[in-house]
Amino acid sequence: MRARFVAGNWKMNGGLRANMVLLDALKAGLKTSAGVLCAVCVPFPYLQQVSTALGGSAIAWGAQNLSEHDSGAYTGEVSGAMLKEFGCRFAIVGHSERRGLYGEDDARVAAKFVAARRAGLTPILCVGETLEQRERGETERVVGRQLDAVVGAAGAAALADAVLAYEPVWAIGTGKNATPQQAQEVHAFARARLAARDKALAGLTILYGGSVKPGNAKELFAMPDIDGGLIGGASLAAEDFIAICAAARR
Ligand code: PEP
Repeated sequence: MRARFVAGNWKMNGGLRANMVLLDALKAGLKTSAGVLCAVCVPFPYLQQVSTALGGSAIAWGAQNLSEHDSGAYTGEVSGAMLKEFGCRFAIVGHSERRGLYGEDDARVAAKFVAARRAGLTPILCVGETLEQRERGETERVVGRQLDAVVGAAGAAALADAVLAYEPVWAIGTGKNATPQQAQEVHAFARARLAARDKALAGLTILYGGSVKPGNAKELFAMPDIDGGLIGGASLAAEDFIAICAAARR
């Protein structure tokens, strides 16, 4: 049976005091995994705080980005090995905000995926189409191209214990989630495309992300190829994130 997983993406939000309140509430509300692994991906400066607060709890943590390089003259960058030193288990790669706002193309995203693996991190690889691409009927072409770039650079086997997140760009932070059927179609497509490269990838954990809320999580997570969610805005409210994690239980 595929693993159920819910990850929060705090984006560039937080503050030492507010984080503590949120982390305490998450620890109280997510005492046991109950069949769903829950994690938070936080801004780099808060990794120390999060590792201290969540160490020994049922909640894992990770980063939202990493450098494709291991060390050297890359001012402002953070390596996978540094993230490991703060207990990170996960690193998001290829989030649409990184692709769109910071010009990360498929090749760079693939290089970051490889760097995360090299450091012993589990990459959460984000793929997804823009509204214009969907309206032009290009969703499968775009998602297929994004997946192929990573398979080409890392090899299909490297995806086996990674996590994939389908995040339609038009659904992120807009309040307009994909319908369960729309998301299911793309998840099934991605799973089949990867399984054609390596049979083991049929068991890949594939998350849906884009305006998931307590009110829509259950029906999204009930779809056969949706294994959980990558949660932005709603991961900043403890009650909402806990409810979304509960909705992922089988
Ligand atoms: C995200 O940032 O990955 C995301 C899915 O955001 P939101 O849940 O706010 O749409």
